[in-house]
Amino acid sequence: MEPVIQVDRLVKRYGEIEAVRGISFTVNKGEIVGFLGPNGAGKSTTMRILTGYLPLSEGTVRIAGHDIETEAREAKRRIGYMPEVPPLYLDMTVFDYLMFVARIKGVPARERRARVAQVMEQTAIGNMARRIMAKLSKGYKQRVGLAQALVNNPELLILDEPTAGLDPTQIIEIRKLIRSLAGEHTIILSTHILPEVTAACDRAIIIDRGRIVADDSIAGLSAGRNLEEVFIALTMQAELA
Ligand code: ADP
Repeated sequence: MEPVIQVDRLVKRYGEIEAVRGISFTVNKGEIVGFLGPNGAGKSTTMRILTGYLPLSEGTVRIAGHDIETEAREAKRRIGYMPEVPPLYLDMTVFDYLMFVARIKGVPARERRARVAQVMEQTAIGNMARRIMAKLSKGYKQRVGLAQALVNNPELLILDEPTAGLDPTQIIEIRKLIRSLAGEHTIILSTHILPEVTAACDRAIIIDRGRIVADDSIAGLSAGRNLEEVFIALTMQAELA
C-alpha cells in the first residue's frame, strides 16, 4: 500500500501546554479517515501541522514521502486544506475567487478556467459563479471552501470540522459531497461528532488529550458494540476532567 500521510511520534507544545503528545499513524492512498475527538483533543493542531501551516515540536510528518519541514514545497503541492472557517474574500465573486486561488496555487494560466469550472461542478456551485461571496449561505460558503481546496487537484484533502455550523440538510449534502470525492483523493477530516465519521469515513482515529486512543475501521471499532458507547468510554475522562 502507498502511504500518503506518515506521522511518526509527533509532539506539539504551545509553551507549557503539550497539545499533541507523541502520536503516530499512517493513511494510505484512497482512504477516507475521520480524526475524531472531543474539543481540545488536539485535532486542529494536528491538521494544521499536516498542512505545514504550524511548525511541529518533535517527530516527523511525511506527505507522499516528502518531509513537511525539509521538503515543504513538494509536500504542500499535494495538499488541499479546508480550515474550519474557509479563507474567503467576501467581496469577490465565487468565480473570481476560485480563479485567484488557482493562480496562487500555481495552476497554469491556460488551464485555470477549465479547472475552476470542474471544481464548481464537483461541488455543485456552478449556479453561484457570479454571486458575491458575502451573500452566500453558510452551506454554499462551505462548498466554496471545498472547491478552493480542490482547485489544484491535490492528492490529499485535509478537512477541519467540515460541517461545523451547518444545518441538518446542509450537513447531509456536504457529507455526500465528501463521499463523492473519495476514490480520487485521499481524505482526512477532523470532527468532534461521531455520526460524521460513520457517515463519511471508512476508518476512525480517535484522539483524546493529545494521544491516540483508538485507530481502526468503523466495523472494527464497533465490532457488534454500540459505537457511541465506545467513543464515550474512550473519551469520558476528558469530559469529566
Ligand atoms: P481540537 O481541535 O481537538 O479542539 P486543538 O488542537 O484546537 O483541539 O487544541 C488542543 C489544545 O491546545 C487545547 O488545550 C488548546 O487550548 C491548546 N491550543 C490550541 N491552540 C493554541 C495556541 N495557539 N496557543 C496555546 N494553546 C493552544
